[in-house]
Amino acid sequence: MKIILLGAPGAGKGTQAEKICEKFNIPAISTGNIIREALRSGTEMGLKAKSYMDEGKLVPDEVVIGIIKERLAKEDCAGGFILDGFPRTIPQAEALDKMGIVIDKVVDIEVADDKIAARMSGRRVCEKCGASYHLEFKKPSVDGVCDACSGTLVQRKDDHPDTVLSRLEIYHKETEPLKSYYEAQNKLVIVEGQDEVADTTRLVFEALE
Ligand code: AMP
Repeated sequence: MKIILLGAPGAGKGTQAEKICEKFNIPAISTGNIIREALRSGTEMGLKAKSYMDEGKLVPDEVVIGIIKERLAKEDCAGGFILDGFPRTIPQAEALDKMGIVIDKVVDIEVADDKIAARMSGRRVCEKCGASYHLEFKKPSVDGVCDACSGTLVQRKDDHPDTVLSRLEIYHKETEPLKSYYEAQNKLVIVEGQDEVADTTRLVFEALE
């Protein structure tokens, strides 16, 4: 199964991608995570993306399209995958079509902007391994410490309140038109993001049936 998760930044795509990954045993691919990993390793691509990311802007299409092409060519994607955070613009979706990749379903997780802003202020990531936590919804066992690698949990620069507002603006302008794009292909299913992660997961699984 080839799945795209759409939704505003902070709508819970990453968490739901992990759940789908466990259930269907297909890799969850997050362009944001790939870019952050490149940044941690200091690669040229990571350095190129840094200023865009820190300001909450989209990394240029040609960069992310290159990233996704390389990632989808790997063997573990042969049986399907979940895309989390790609495509984010119409040209990115068109690039995916041009690659000959046939997507089965596009699940759009809808959450109101004011709720998103509140949620994102509580998001924390491990500066060492990139694992994601939330002060309210996904607490680590020990405050400020990563369960997986004992790294320090920090707030992403692009999760600061001012940047969140600009990311939401960009989402509405650049990414939301993808809903019509995939609706026209008969692939779009809309799920209302719930307060409880498990409730959203149930709706996402239903949408994938
Ligand atoms: P995310 O972790 O998905 O919220 O992505 C974090 C940041 O990475 C975004 O704000 C962008 O700067 C960059 N990014 C990730 N995916 C894409 C994409 N498909 N197109 C453009 N920029 C992206």
